[in-house]
Amino acid sequence: MTMNHRLTGPTPLPPAVLHAMMQQPVSHRAETFRAQHRELTAHLQRLLGTRSLPMLFASSGTGGLEAAVSNVFRPGARVLVASIGLFGERLIEMSRAFGLELATCCKPWGSVLDPEELGLAIERSGHLDGVLVTHNETSTGVLNPLRELAAAVRSRCDALLVVDAVSAAGAVPIAMDQWGIDVLVTASQKALMSPPGLAVVAASPAALASAASCPRGRYYLDLNRMTDAAAEGTTAFTPPVTTLAGLTAALRMMDAEGFEGVFQRHRETARAARLTLRTLGLDCFSPEAAASPTVTCVPLPRMCFASQVRRVLAERHEVAVSQGRGCWKERMIRIGHMGHFRCDEVIGAVRALAAVVMP
Ligand SMILES: *Cc1c(COP(=O)(O)O)cnc(C)c1O
Repeated sequence: MTMNHRLTGPTPLPPAVLHAMMQQPVSHRAETFRAQHRELTAHLQRLLGTRSLPMLFASSGTGGLEAAVSNVFRPGARVLVASIGLFGERLIEMSRAFGLELATCCKPWGSVLDPEELGLAIERSGHLDGVLVTHNETSTGVLNPLRELAAAVRSRCDALLVVDAVSAAGAVPIAMDQWGIDVLVTASQKALMSPPGLAVVAASPAALASAASCPRGRYYLDLNRMTDAAAEGTTAFTPPVTTLAGLTAALRMMDAEGFEGVFQRHRETARAARLTLRTLGLDCFSPEAAASPTVTCVPLPRMCFASQVRRVLAERHEVAVSQGRGCWKERMIRIGHMGHFRCDEVIGAVRALAAVVMP
């Protein structure tokens, strides 16, 4: 028996992705690379619903978010950050770190962001240069209604909308241009079933124009420099070409399965996981209507401690899961089901968890 990897990231790689990476690194100035870059760009544009050129930065997802915040806003810009968990809190910290003037719309961990509430927060905030939201909150297993949230922003102001879609993109439909999203960030190691190492950043013309008008405060993570390179079928600096080959193979697989089929597999597996949980007497942390298709969070019964539960799951059941974050660290287990998984593996992990924690 091999380990059933149900972490919230990095996620398991399909054999085709592993295979694509078993080659000598190519030059990022070679024509073979440009062809691969063009193929990857076209897949990502369709997946994210954008005509903008997605940029590939050699960093984890946080680097992509830092590129967004440091490029499109100048110090003193007024932004509203919506937070429903750890990753929302990171957007708040990041905005502070770059000297932005901050308004927040914070809800307790486990809740979902209500578009009406975001709208009211925008109205209360006065002039805003930006609004920052998390699409899928990985720390609580909640999927925010991004389309409706974007509509709430677009109907009220022309602030630039920045979205952390790191644990959503590749698992749920996104129509960046149609919904009016200005910067969308994701990363290779979550639903895109590739190794860690690449942040994907797509930026609207308005976001790029804002970046061009304030060119200070970054060099490597520069959106305009990277967009110019992307137009040439390459990156501004040496990318992790091996990871990029893996990501291209992963997108090719998703394209072959059909993006709608991929989304449906995520939705149905997540629903089956929650049903099984409840049948076995456990609960899901998120409200059912906003339950994440990529991560299921399970509050533990009293007297169960997540680090111990994880150890027993790994040793006796060969199941690897993630713990809670923040004050839920010892009180929650998080089961990842994004990218490359079969439904029975996820259900197996849920059953094993119940076997360990239920009396
Ligand atoms: C994983 C994740 C990130 C980025 O984390 P990195 O470790 O920097 O890749 C950001 N936001 C969300 C919602 C995530 O799930």
